[in-house]
Amino acid sequence: MYTFEDRKGRSLTLRPEGTAAIVRSYLQNNMAMLAQPVQLYYIEPFFRYNQPQKGRYRQFWQVGVEVIGESDPALDAQIIQLALVILKDLGIDKLFTLQLNSIGTPESRKKYIASLQDYYFGKERHLCENCQVRLGSNPLRLLDCKEEDCVTLAKLAPSFSEYLDPESKEFHADLKEFLDELGIAYVENPKLVRGLDYYSKTVFEFWDNTSDSQNAIGGGGRYDGLVELLGGPSTPAIGFAMGVERLIANMKRAKVRVPHKDELHVFVAQLGKEAKKKCLPLIMQMRERGIKTVGALGKGSMGAQLKIADKFGAPWTIIMGLTEVREGVAIVRNMKLGTQEKVKFPKVMDKIIELIGEENLDTYHPGELLYG
Ligand code: AMP
Repeated sequence: MYTFEDRKGRSLTLRPEGTAAIVRSYLQNNMAMLAQPVQLYYIEPFFRYNQPQKGRYRQFWQVGVEVIGESDPALDAQIIQLALVILKDLGIDKLFTLQLNSIGTPESRKKYIASLQDYYFGKERHLCENCQVRLGSNPLRLLDCKEEDCVTLAKLAPSFSEYLDPESKEFHADLKEFLDELGIAYVENPKLVRGLDYYSKTVFEFWDNTSDSQNAIGGGGRYDGLVELLGGPSTPAIGFAMGVERLIANMKRAKVRVPHKDELHVFVAQLGKEAKKKCLPLIMQMRERGIKTVGALGKGSMGAQLKIADKFGAPWTIIMGLTEVREGVAIVRNMKLGTQEKVKFPKVMDKIIELIGEENLDTYHPGELLYG
């Protein structure tokens, strides 16, 4: 962790992850009184004092999700599915493989750790320096060490599945059934572990399947012991986090085209007060429908307005002058080709939707999300 002293000699630590803070907030805000499970998310910067390298920074961003207050393998399946939906929406799901394991309860883990320590007893000198230390403090980490000798030894180490308690075993089998039902592929990875005691049962990570680096884009798991550890009642929970810089790097690698949020669909140009009267409500209606619209409502000449339309890079322009008002039409101009056609005024919005494609409408309305 990134720990340092401030000017008064007080020890400060920058948060290395989000889960503990979310659980603290769950307790502090008495969220146990809400309908359970409570589902929360965050997109925040975090800090870890590790050696910076490609894809590993001292300050980085995570997007994370936590589901607190209920335990069911269906929730685990759902949260894994959510992580996959995010990867899919960003266009990079094909680059990653879901690695899945169960690390049981802390009690079953204790027995397993004892058997691991037994296994490594007398083999210490073959381990890397790091693992020699971790054998005493955190023996599970020996299983995912990347040093060659450690990998060889880990291959023959006892498998956790033999020590898994019956309840965790059943939970894991149910989770896999639900994943199958959702059509989600996974690789069973008995070496996938989490170091901390408050983790239990499900652990998962998304590994880059295009390289051997085992670089994870994100991961998570069940942490049924954390709420209690932070002073609350025994409360099950599960969550995951993904690294935003790594998401972006992979989107670049996959050449995903990101829509420009300021890109316009249509520009409205008009001449004269009568045309303005028609265009003013049209602009509002089109915006409400999700057509990104800018209107020139000043007094510029048609030529000047079309120049502005060009600057905005709008693919389509609606043009109205006195003649069009009288004829009850509008001109729709293709700005790239310079071609144009007359459309009956009441049909002009439908025409624009047809031209830009309904799927490209900007249908995000925060008000609706909040108030139904
Ligand atoms: P973790 O909490 O360690 O499971 O991290 C979850 C995800 O955050 C990882 O899969 C990475 O995508 C990202 N991440 C973790 N540490 C770093 C770091 N030092 N720099 C950049 N991304 C990171």
